[in-house]
Formats: sequence, structure tokens, C-alpha cells
Amino acid sequence: MAAEIHARPQSSRPVLLSKVEGHQDAVSAALLIPKEDGLITASEDRTIRVWLKRDSGQYWPSIYHTMSSPCSAMAYHHDSRRIFVGQDNGAIMEFHISEDFNKMNFVKTYPAHQNRVSAVIFCLGVEWVISTGHDKCVSWMCTRSGNMLGRHYFTSWASCLQYDIETQHAFVGDYSGQITLLKLEQNTCTVITTLKGHEGSVASLWWDPVQRLLFSGASDHSIILWDIGGRKGRTLLLQGHHDKVQAICYIQLTRQLVSCSADGGIAVWNMDISREEAPQWLESDSCQKCEQPFFWNIKQMWDTKTLGLRQHHCRKCGQAVCGKCSTKRSSYPIMGFEFQVRVCDSCFESIKDEDRTSLATFHEGKHNISHMSMDISRGLMVTCGSDRIVKIRFILLFSRQGKLRLQKWYITLPDKERKKITREIVQIILARSQKMSSF
Ligand SMILES: [Zn+2]
Ligand SMILES: [Zn+2]
Repeated sequence: MAAEIHARPQSSRPVLLSKVEGHQDAVSAALLIPKEDGLITASEDRTIRVWLKRDSGQYWPSIYHTMSSPCSAMAYHHDSRRIFVGQDNGAIMEFHISEDFNKMNFVKTYPAHQNRVSAVIFCLGVEWVISTGHDKCVSWMCTRSGNMLGRHYFTSWASCLQYDIETQHAFVGDYSGQITLLKLEQNTCTVITTLKGHEGSVASLWWDPVQRLLFSGASDHSIILWDIGGRKGRTLLLQGHHDKVQAICYIQLTRQLVSCSADGGIAVWNMDISREEAPQWLESDSCQKCEQPFFWNIKQMWDTKTLGLRQHHCRKCGQAVCGKCSTKRSSYPIMGFEFQVRVCDSCFESIKDEDRTSLATFHEGKHNISHMSMDISRGLMVTCGSDRIVKIRFILLFSRQGKLRLQKWYITLPDKERKKITREIVQIILARSQKMSSF
């Protein structure tokens, strides 16, 4: 029994409910329709489709609309039933969808960009459609008049976007790896700050307006949490993916971050613990442990008649060390290192077994994921990407006390199977150490 409890958590796994197939090319976006067994997809095959679940349990299109250019991004506003589709040619098209989801009417075209639209957000309060594109700009247009209100240019392709409705701040991630924070006004904007931390293009952003946290996923395989609300420049690094992190979603209710990478990896991060910041890498001309010179330190090499060594860095303390002083590898989840990284020998000694307990669970999505959306109230997650398949999954969410917050079953499972899954989950919760939970 004990062995079972201490086993690495494997089973808060997302359960695949449905596969939706039919698109002829990559699916750029798939969005669940709230309170309906349905979803809207936009694809590179130039179609927008609305899929409803039929009595057979299969999803079939109730709307099939062909566009003039491949679809690259989409936003859906459920209360007003408006859809905004960004295209490869730079235009955004607005549609209104009927109450029964069987009909879609064209409303307007917005000439938002000169090139591929990468993200679209509709903001009902101000009646703005905000978007980013491969013409290196963020633009915001009035949905009443259809007029361009403002534009701001970056030095590289703008790839993703988040918007804080209350304070009118936009976060724009770009291909250079930077995130720009802008305050958007009616006809102008102000650059507040630039966040630099990624070593590759930023592919996904998530803004949580309640805790004022910004999450960014990038092609450098990492995720960074920017604690904007804390105002101290605190950042946390999360490394658990082995490919580009292309979709992220933070669930404030359960303090979990769900992230997806291009190789199909799905990670669920426990953010309900105090994590530690990874240290800045220190600069030194010689190993900070054994004092042997690094290879560029010609003088010391000459003086001490020694050969220069390669410089490495300990991920835990940030010290510049030589290979001999950092022979060991360890994971260190509290600092976001879910897989083994280089640590110096003294740091290795200081890491206890329990410090290596994973603070995230990892799952196989088994397809390329370039876009993901969730319906938290139903515990549903939908993923899509270049393999043309859309997958709908059920994902279990927990309250901070480890109680099952959602216990609705979306597939008919025998009672025995249900009990087994619940038991597994409860064991995982109970096996969490003091550091990992608030009880
Ligand atoms: Zn050394
Ligand atoms: Zn160290």
C-alpha cells in the first residue's frame, strides 16, 4: 500500500471524450460553446465549422462556412453570439451565429493587418476588436464603426495577445521573445514595459486578472510566470515540456496551470504552493567552487600553468562552475525544474528525496497541440493543431482542500471504474507533502 501511495502521480489524467475529424488542413482554433454540447473550429483549410453533438454521440457540423483565406485565429463571444475570425490575408471577419447554432450571418470585415492575424480578442464593453499579426503590429478597431482606432508596431511578428478589460492593458508576445505591456486608449497607446526572459518566440500568453499573474509559454520549451500584481519583478520558471509551449490556461479556482506543447505534451502544474525563483546566473572568470580558470582567462591559466575549463552554471544556486564541480543532475520542482538539470555538487547534496517530488503531472495528448481552450465549469478541454484532429477531454479539477470539485462524469463508466479513478485521485492528493498543499 505504501508503495502505491508514494508512486509518482500519473492518474489525474485528462480523459479523451471525443475526436472531431473532418478538417482538410491544420486547425488553428477550437472553442467550446458554453452550456452546449458543441464547438466552433477555424482551420487553414479556409473553413469555419460549428459542430454539435448528435444522439449518436458524434459531433457533426451544423455550420460549414468557406472563407476567402485560411483562418489563423478566432474569438467567440457567447452572450452576443459573435464570432471574429482572423485570416492569413490580414483581415478579420465578424459573424453572428443563430441561437440554434444552425446559421451564421456575415456582419463586417475589418482590415486589421497587412499579414496573417495571430490572435483576436473581442471586448464588448468598449466594442473593440483587438488583434496581433505578422505585420508586426497590434491593432484595435471599433466594432460599431469598423474603423481603425490605433496601431502599435514591434520589431518582430506579434504572435499572441492578452487583454485586461478593467485597466485596458494589452500584453503582446512576439517572435523575438519579448512581451510588451501597453495601455490602449481610444486613439493612442503607451508602452508601459517590456518583459524579457524567453530565449525563443513567445507562443502563448495567459493573463489572470484576479491574482494579476501573467503566464507566457515559448519556443524555448519553458513557461514563465510574471507576478505583475506583486510589483517586485518576481518571475517563476516552469520547465517540464520538451517542445514549444503553444497553449496555456490558468485556472484561478484550483490554482492549476494547464500547458500544452507542440509534441502533444499536456502538463498540469500545481501553483498552490510557494515556489522559488530560479537564480540569476553569476559571471566569473574561474570556477566558483575549485577556482580553476575558465578557458578565456588566459592570465590565470598562464600564472597557474593550468588548462582553462568550460563554464557551466548550477541551476539551483546560479554559480559559475566547472564540469568537475557539477557532475550531478537533479530535478528541483520547487524552482520549476521538473526534469534533471545541472547542479553543483554541494547543491546536489542539499537536495533531499522529498524535494524531488514532482509538482506537476504530465500527460500525453498524442497529437500536435497549437491551440487549447477550456470550459472550467464543465472540466472540459479542447485541443487542436497541425494533425487536423480536434480532441475533447475531461480533466479533473480539485479544490484547494483536495476535494473533488467537479464530479460529473461525461462518459458512462461502470461504478467500479469510477470508484477506482476517484480512489486514485484521492491518493494523489493525500500523498502530497506539506509543501505542496494548504492542509
Ligand atoms: Zn570547479
Ligand atoms: Zn549550486
